[in-house]
Amino acid sequence: MKKILCILMVILIYGMSTTKKSDNVKTIVLQPYFGFPKTYVEYVKNNLLLIYPKVIVLKDIPLPKQAFVNNRNRADSLLKYLEINCLNNTTIVGMTNKDITTQNGKISDWGIFGLSNMPGKVCVISSFRIKGNVLDKIFKTVIHELGHTEGLNHCSIPGCIMSDAKGKDNFNNEDNFCNKCKNYLIKRNWKL
Ligand SMILES: [Zn+2]
Ligand SMILES: [Zn+2]
Repeated sequence: MKKILCILMVILIYGMSTTKKSDNVKTIVLQPYFGFPKTYVEYVKNNLLLIYPKVIVLKDIPLPKQAFVNNRNRADSLLKYLEINCLNNTTIVGMTNKDITTQNGKISDWGIFGLSNMPGKVCVISSFRIKGNVLDKIFKTVIHELGHTEGLNHCSIPGCIMSDAKGKDNFNNEDNFCNKCKNYLIKRNWKL
């Protein structure tokens, strides 16, 4: 009996430790807003799954009316609304094809590709200003913003995904995360 109990205990402890381990991996949740093309969502999901273990997609929702101020969707406001619905151990990526803006110095409505809380649980990206190889550029925007949510700041190493775009389309010069950014993300369960 003692032996069986011991074996049971071992199984129980093993079970607990493996559950704990897999629970440590956050889930990246893709939240498309109405109008964001399904093909874009699929592309982002499939490519994210190559470099991150847990990715899910939620049903489309409308952009919150409260975030629409002076004819613009305020990115900082979108982050606040996403955060309300953010569960534990998840990071939400809001995805829209509408223009999103934020305050930049004296300019109150600066159009952007994406915005995130750093570190944080939410980010938002927009395809509105992305031209050319849209799929590739959207994906790079998503992983750039996710990098911020993981706590990465802008990176000065040329070609790194975490480079500061400063409002320009630099995507073709950005191939991957630099080694420093890569190693940081690998410690956070990224498979880079
Ligand atoms: Zn950035
Ligand atoms: Zn870097």
